[in-house]
Amino acid sequence: METAAVLSNTATVAGRRLVRDTGGLLLRHPANKKLRNQLRFTPVNAPTTYRSVIARAVEVDSSLSVPSETVDLNWDNLGFGLVHTDYMYVMKCSLGESFTKGELVPFGNIEINPSAGVLNYGQGLFEGLKAYRKEDGNVLLFRPEENAKRMIAGSERMCMPSPSVDQFMQAVKATVLANERWIPPPGKGSLYIRPLLMGSGSVLGLAPAPEYTFLVYVSPVGNYFKEGLSPINLVVETEMHRATPGGTGGVKTIGNYAAVLKAQGAAKAKGYSDVLYLDSTHKKYLEEVSSCNIFVVKGNTISTPDIKGTILPGITRKSIIDVARDQGFEVFEKPVTVDELLDADEVFCTGTAVVVSPVGSITYLGKRVAYGSSGVGLVSQQLYSGLTRLQMGLADDKMGWIVELK
Ligand SMILES: *Cc1c(COP(=O)(O)O)cnc(C)c1O
Repeated sequence: METAAVLSNTATVAGRRLVRDTGGLLLRHPANKKLRNQLRFTPVNAPTTYRSVIARAVEVDSSLSVPSETVDLNWDNLGFGLVHTDYMYVMKCSLGESFTKGELVPFGNIEINPSAGVLNYGQGLFEGLKAYRKEDGNVLLFRPEENAKRMIAGSERMCMPSPSVDQFMQAVKATVLANERWIPPPGKGSLYIRPLLMGSGSVLGLAPAPEYTFLVYVSPVGNYFKEGLSPINLVVETEMHRATPGGTGGVKTIGNYAAVLKAQGAAKAKGYSDVLYLDSTHKKYLEEVSSCNIFVVKGNTISTPDIKGTILPGITRKSIIDVARDQGFEVFEKPVTVDELLDADEVFCTGTAVVVSPVGSITYLGKRVAYGSSGVGLVSQQLYSGLTRLQMGLADDKMGWIVELK
């Protein structure tokens, strides 16, 4: 891949004076004249453009060229696996200091000391969000500042410095725009964005690592359910727990996830899609699925377990609560019992990857309860459509949840 060089500070193009502020990257791409003309300068006082967005988040003297060749991918066959893209974002800082600026580097393996805090003691967090390509060519993010705030909350729990909301946003925007050619066409899926924060410095005795790395990579993903929504079958787990009071269940720390694989694997081996966890104290109240929140519908009422430290505060959860209220449902965040679950009209899960995932059946202590006679419940369908239309820019963004990148 060719790199570009920073040229001069100002230029006049088509009668407009262009300048390199801390933002404007002046790019030279010998292989592509069109790209060179497009990407060379940031107009003075330009509205947010690629160049200024990318440049605000990276070192001023970084060199970067955005490949313009279209990607040869079968957009209709996208699943939820990793597809290598062009760039990832990396920013480092020492313990006790703050993040300043990072850079976009070619996507690839990272080098890390065997005694890094993240490898030895699990000092790490992740986030997940999506960028959608709109019909008019714009690129949309859904509530990215919520992911930034959740990473800050998690970093406090895990004794790590975190990027500020603004740094997180700039890094995400820069990474998406630098990989723009990997965003699926409208309706074919989205660009999944995976920010990581980890203790990358060496530490042998148990203590916070001396150095931290914030990294953002992306991968195009398909729509989770290709043939429309497809109901999942859950089994209630009565032995193992995902989280305990005072633990880390309420933050997106990497250590929470390997711990659910065993119960999930056992459930899958018996033909279930996933596991629904109960609270570890009473073994009576619903918590959530391995990586999704849960909702229970009865008549015009929708209930979801309240957030009390053992449940991950999902951004889809929070958004669905507002969308459901807007659609006229009465929504409660409260303790929800297994009895209420088994007595529900409809049950669904929420999360960034699935958006809304209808539950076809629940099995509890060997007893199976199925919801609806045929396929997907009306409420799940209605909420899925309400939220995805917003995320894809097809509905009026009354709540101000959408961030446009161009
Ligand atoms: C990420 C996650 C969710 C869903 O959160 P969203 O912000 O909606 O993607 C739910 N539960 C767990 C355990 C998670 O890690």
